[in-house]
Amino acid sequence: MSDAAPTVFTSGPGPIQLDAEAIAARVRALGAAIARDHVDAAPLHLICVLNGAFLFMADLVRAIDRPLTVDFISVSSYGSRTESSGEVRLVKDLDQSLKGKHVILVEDIVDTGLTMRYLLGYLEGRGPLSVKVAALLSKPARRLVEVPVDYLGFEIEDAFVYGYGLDVDHRYRNLPFVTSMVGGEEG
Ligand code: IMP
Repeated sequence: MSDAAPTVFTSGPGPIQLDAEAIAARVRALGAAIARDHVDAAPLHLICVLNGAFLFMADLVRAIDRPLTVDFISVSSYGSRTESSGEVRLVKDLDQSLKGKHVILVEDIVDTGLTMRYLLGYLEGRGPLSVKVAALLSKPARRLVEVPVDYLGFEIEDAFVYGYGLDVDHRYRNLPFVTSMVGGEEG
């Protein structure tokens, strides 16, 4: 994992900006690392956490040069627009078994860590061979519970970000870049 170590992204005085090229380069590195770390014969199974991770998932699977399968899960964890309620509820369950598989849980962003902690507990109970986490973004300053992130795209400061799958009230998921709110407004 050494050459796929997270890139610390500092926004400075302006809004956070991760352009499409920077994201693509990082996703390629993470895909290569995942392929390298899973050379045994056991099945590799990627689980996308809907909705925010759908673009990251689509690009990540194409950057992993080995056979794999995919599944999708959805949880609701957000009480208001920008603050986690701390409550996690399963909205869409997995379709496939995890028994004997190397599982990679693919998330858009780890904020408080509460969603990830719930999901990891849920997956562990379903008999996978291993479980690892791939997250495009992490905001360590916001963490309430410690969770492992094995493959991290970018570590960012405490700001509400959107684009490349992440939303503000269901909008802006289609932006090819990630940017942040400035003073509570979209930047
Ligand atoms: P956590 O449970 O607090 O770690 O929150 C995880 C979920 O909250 C993510 O999967 C996102 O859906 C959402 N979230 C957290 N921070 C942001 C953000 O800055 N922009 C958009 N969604 C976010």
